[in-house]
Formats: sequence, C-alpha cells, structure tokens
Amino acid sequence: MQCPKCDSAMEAVDFGTEISVARCTGCGGLFCEKQTLLQLRTEWLADTVLDTGSAAGGAKTNDIRDIPCPRCSNIMDHVQDSEQSHITLDVCPTCEGVFLDAGELTDMKSVTLMDHVRRLLSRLGG
Ligand SMILES: [Zn+2]
Ligand SMILES: [Zn+2]
Repeated sequence: MQCPKCDSAMEAVDFGTEISVARCTGCGGLFCEKQTLLQLRTEWLADTVLDTGSAAGGAKTNDIRDIPCPRCSNIMDHVQDSEQSHITLDVCPTCEGVFLDAGELTDMKSVTLMDHVRRLLSRLGG
C-alpha cells in the first residue's frame, strides 16, 4: 500500500491482537477502517504506539486534499471529526477507510481525555 499524501510505502502495524493499521514510513500518516478508529479512540496508549509521526509534518499533509484512497483509489472526502471539529479526516466514501495525518490520533485522544476531565469536574461542581 502506498501513502496517498507523500507516495511513501505504508507498513502494517499491529496494536494488540485485534487492531491493525497501515502507517506511512514517510509522513507517519495512518490508514485504518472507520470501525478500527472507533476502537482506537477508546484504547489506552493506542496513540503512543501507533501515532509516531511528527505532528508538525502532519499539519502539512493535512492540507493535501482530494487524495485517492490507498485501498480502492476513490477520491476521499475531507470531513470534520464529529466530536472535535478542529480535526479534519480523509474518509473514503466507498470502502470507509480513514486516513489520519500524523498527530491527529494523539490530538483526538488528548482532547477526549480533557473532555472526560471536564465532564467529571462539572459533575463534581454541580
Ligand atoms: Zn505519507
Ligand atoms: Zn477506499
């Protein structure tokens, strides 16, 4: 599989026994199933293990749009994350594959953690 953003090779990386994603050896972008992403959001340390690319590089590749899906070659949609609107993901309308730029999974998870803390605090406060 080849990275649609920088043309480098993507390698399979496993997390645990059930989760496998493709990671770009160049820009550090991640490609996985929509379903897998939902799992990753709840997995402790998934970002640390998988999202090893540089966030600064990811900010640059995030601007590359209308990329072909690395799996089925259809043009991917650039969509805002439903929970965190500052994060934009490339989602394939055909095979539901998702491309995350380097740093996006980490971003997603850190904000998720902060949301939890905020919710906890508001519960304590009110
Ligand atoms: Zn790449
Ligand atoms: Zn696809």
